[in-house]
Amino acid sequence: MKHSLYDPNNIFAKIIRGEIPCNKLDECPHTLTFLDINPQAPIHVLIIPKGSYVDMNDFSSRASIEEQAAFIAAIGRAAKLTGAFEGGYRIISNVGGFGHQEVPHLHAHLLGGESIGPIRLR
Ligand code: 5GP
Repeated sequence: MKHSLYDPNNIFAKIIRGEIPCNKLDECPHTLTFLDINPQAPIHVLIIPKGSYVDMNDFSSRASIEEQAAFIAAIGRAAKLTGAFEGGYRIISNVGGFGHQEVPHLHAHLLGGESIGPIRLR
């Protein structure tokens, strides 16, 4: 599987470094969770690892088990902190060209607060 090199100037790297602001919901030593700037549902947050990983391919290949566990735990906390836990929600992580990934730093979208619709949008 091909991996592009990590771009340290991507927008989420700048958020992690505190160079640009975000609406932070949660943080742990390995993860940061914040509101999406262009929400697609009443609840739309992004969960990212603080480590430099392009996407799920890269993260699952190189991240430590501790980092991977922290990422999953952060997604679980996000569901509870946003209130999405009760009604249901969707987790999406876009990868590469076919996945229409725009920001080249791994992120999980958590969408909820209303029915998110069918899994395949076309
Ligand atoms: P992707 O298409 O890469 O899976 O999703 C990238 C997401 O990042 C989009 O939902 C977009 O609205 C969000 N986004 C892009 N730039 C910023 C930003 O500067 N701040 C925040 N909070 N979200 C951003």
